[in-house]
Amino acid sequence: MSILFFLISLFLSGCSPQKEVFKREEMVLGTFGEITCFGEKDSCKKGIDKAFREIKNLEEILSFFKAESDISFLNNAQGKPVGVKKETLEVLKKAKEISQKTQGAFEVTVAPLLAIWGFYQKEKESFSPPSGELIKETLALVGQDKIILAEDTGSVILKNPSMKIDLGGLAKGYIVDRAVAVLKKEEIKNALVNLGGDIFCLSEGRTAKVWKIGIQDPQAKEKLIATLKVRNKAIATSGQYENFREFKGKKLGHIIDPRTGYPVENDVLSVTVVASDCLTADALATAIFVLGKEQGSALLKTFSAEAVIISKSPKGKRLWISGGLKNKVSY
Ligand code: ADP
Ligand code: MG
Repeated sequence: MSILFFLISLFLSGCSPQKEVFKREEMVLGTFGEITCFGEKDSCKKGIDKAFREIKNLEEILSFFKAESDISFLNNAQGKPVGVKKETLEVLKKAKEISQKTQGAFEVTVAPLLAIWGFYQKEKESFSPPSGELIKETLALVGQDKIILAEDTGSVILKNPSMKIDLGGLAKGYIVDRAVAVLKKEEIKNALVNLGGDIFCLSEGRTAKVWKIGIQDPQAKEKLIATLKVRNKAIATSGQYENFREFKGKKLGHIIDPRTGYPVENDVLSVTVVASDCLTADALATAIFVLGKEQGSALLKTFSAEAVIISKSPKGKRLWISGGLKNKVSY
């Protein structure tokens, strides 16, 4: 989801004049990517170059849409074991753990459900919802018990030949973390990596910056509903307002409830999660969206995370802010 950001603490006095801000924007992972970096010109440029290279390399491995990705090999393997890169195994292991901790609300095996609900179709107009019977049949392909991760051999089995996985709910977050690791290796202390609203705010060292992130109004995209001060943390937002199918005036969003097989329909408009890594923020935002405010917010402690949940109310909308964010949010 698009989130705006801007920096609030600009140069501190005593900063060397060669220290500047560098920013590059590129379309990556089918979304808008940007890296902003504070520091020496050469190390920032080198860091940004390397980070974008890392992002593109990981996209080749983890994308549902790239024919040569590990995910495509797995999805076409017809139940046979597939040797995968260590990154794929790492993300699938995390996905399993998050699925377990969210009572199955987060589930990368939802891909066949996304398919029957038309989310892999380019033509939005020709959409009509699947039958109840098809949804029931497709639900049989969903669940972590059907994925075998063999860490010793570095291979993965999708037990049912018709199963498919889609890492769309957490891959961007993982890739943001990896891009940040590249910047850190280049000894960059202050930077912001944003992949379509999955963000990490790097703020380290003596001149650590505080970043101010805007949370979009889910009902009026051009407006910000709140701003959040973030330092050395990840932030990710899930909502149904950007990617949806419309049927008979009803908006059906791209987050599917793996327990029912239907696109999530509750009173949540958007979930913004702040966590220490972006994979967790990304996956947890999706999971809380599925579970709703009550059940979802109860999960935050398990992940040492904080959240802003915007939901519908009779008066319009309501903003719920978790305890640890109370003095960091303005609205
Ligand atoms: P975005 O990628 O638009 O920022 P999310 O992080 O919430 O939004 O991810 C939504 C994507 O996650 C969907 O497009 C789909 O690929 C995948 N997905 C949908 N429902 C689930 C679910 N219940 N668990 C895990 N992934 C899901
Ligand atoms: Mg997500």
